[in-house]
Amino acid sequence: MRCPKCGFRDDKVIDSRQSRDSSSIRRRRVCLQCAYRFTTYEQIERSDLRVIKRDRTHEPFDRRKLVNSLAKACEKRSISLVALESAVDEIVHELETSGREVSSQLIGTKVLERLREIDEVAYLRYASVHQRFNEVDEFVDAIQALGRRIKPNALQRELFPPEMATPEMHPASAGTATAKRETEINGGV
Ligand SMILES: [Zn+2]
Repeated sequence: MRCPKCGFRDDKVIDSRQSRDSSSIRRRRVCLQCAYRFTTYEQIERSDLRVIKRDRTHEPFDRRKLVNSLAKACEKRSISLVALESAVDEIVHELETSGREVSSQLIGTKVLERLREIDEVAYLRYASVHQRFNEVDEFVDAIQALGRRIKPNALQRELFPPEMATPEMHPASAGTATAKRETEINGGV
């Protein structure tokens, strides 16, 4: 494994442990040239899981894409990569036991269930980007519940930091939905 710091190609594994459901292995490595420590995850490649998207097209399930969408929602929140990886492990495990084809909607629902337990701000961010418009009432309820505990201005900053990039997953619906939701949030909290 190439060292992410110096690019040296030789390293030593100093710790190795399995995820809770034994579907992946986490390895702690040290570079033999610069002594930089980094972590790798190894998992069984699943090529049989397919995602049915909203437009009815299919695509192979991409774990990395799922990790990235969670990581984006958790940006600047104090959530470790290990916690994210373990949430993804659980989601993937559930998806795999539910069959060979899963809808992108089901994936979204499972992500929201997990994020709600991990971090409410990340949960709301993910919901604002990936959930459909008809669930806006639920979204506003969640914002209001959170708003009772966090000052509205702080909440607004947390949810929509200016540096957050535009949503990628559903570009067609996301623009209008976000604008509408911002209005709802301003009026509702
Ligand atoms: Zn190195």
